[in-house]
Amino acid sequence: MSNPIKEKVRCLIIGSGPAGYTAAIYATRANLNPLLFEGIQPGGQLTTTTTVENYPGFPDGVEGTELMNKLREQAVNLGADIRPGIATYADLSKRPYRIIIDEETEVETDALIIATGATAKYLGLPDEQKYAGMGVSACATCDGFFYRKKVVVVVGGGDTACEEALYLSELASKVYLIVRKDYLRASKAMQQQVYDKLNIEILFETNAVGLYGDKNVEGVYLVKRQGHPDEEKISLPIDGFFLAIGHQPNSLLYKEWLQTDENGYIITVPGSTLTNLQGVFAAGDVADPRYRQAITAAASGCKAAIDADHYLLSHK
Ligand code: NDP
Repeated sequence: MSNPIKEKVRCLIIGSGPAGYTAAIYATRANLNPLLFEGIQPGGQLTTTTTVENYPGFPDGVEGTELMNKLREQAVNLGADIRPGIATYADLSKRPYRIIIDEETEVETDALIIATGATAKYLGLPDEQKYAGMGVSACATCDGFFYRKKVVVVVGGGDTACEEALYLSELASKVYLIVRKDYLRASKAMQQQVYDKLNIEILFETNAVGLYGDKNVEGVYLVKRQGHPDEEKISLPIDGFFLAIGHQPNSLLYKEWLQTDENGYIITVPGSTLTNLQGVFAAGDVADPRYRQAITAAASGCKAAIDADHYLLSHK
């Protein structure tokens, strides 16, 4: 990188989901003059969903994109400096911390809030893109409500898949759990709950290979015991196709410096957003393998700004 544009700020926020924008709102009101870079997907995961009905304060629900636009607008109106840009390099070896944006701007910061979220894993089928928002989802809590009394598939055999299947079984008339192996990876307790549910049917040794439907998903193509002599092709009519094969926290850039768990989630001091590095805070899904909700992300963004403020007050 030759002749980078250099800037120095007190508080840098990376990421623009509910956590990032809320951190910007609180940090601005605390006079930290935060600078926020929005990352690969401005607005975060909520911009890929339709109506959000479980974010408090919206009795009639709110479109995911509208909610994120409002959060952004609120932060901007309060004075936050919000810009497009992707963090491409991080040097957290010493303070002030150094982040390179789009390989052209070098930002030095006293406090860093990482709110880069997590990305749901998809199978990689072209049909997942084709029917995005039209029957394909990676979040039962977000979209399950639209499948009341309908038939849905959940792909995956871990705790998330079982949890999503259980959640959906209270809404949908029938839930098929599609598991590629001949066993569930989920905890025994979770497995038992799934086995106890009469409207969940597990299809073991089965892979989803495609979807069909005019506009919305109307069915899934499955292959049982793929590649074996007794391979069986199934075409199963469904209304919804839920992926639950794991999430990938967007922490790669910071992994050299920050403690993460075995799945890459940034580890924070319980009850706070503090990481193992002084002045570096993690908020939202990048540090939360458990709840992964917009409201919990927003709450942790608020905590991160307060934690950053306390840190900056004691490190003038
Ligand atoms: P996991 O990695 O535990 O499970 C992923 C599941 O998806 C596995 O069954 C895996 O199959 C399957 N899978 C992965 N890739 C594919 C693919 N390409 N095609 C088909 N199936 C695929 O992820 P989870 O999100 O379930 O859990 C992550 C962590 O969070 C775990 O530690 C879990 O225990 C924890 N968690 C805990 C909860 C709780 O305690 N309430 C709730 C949710 C998560 P295979 O087994 O064949 O690899």
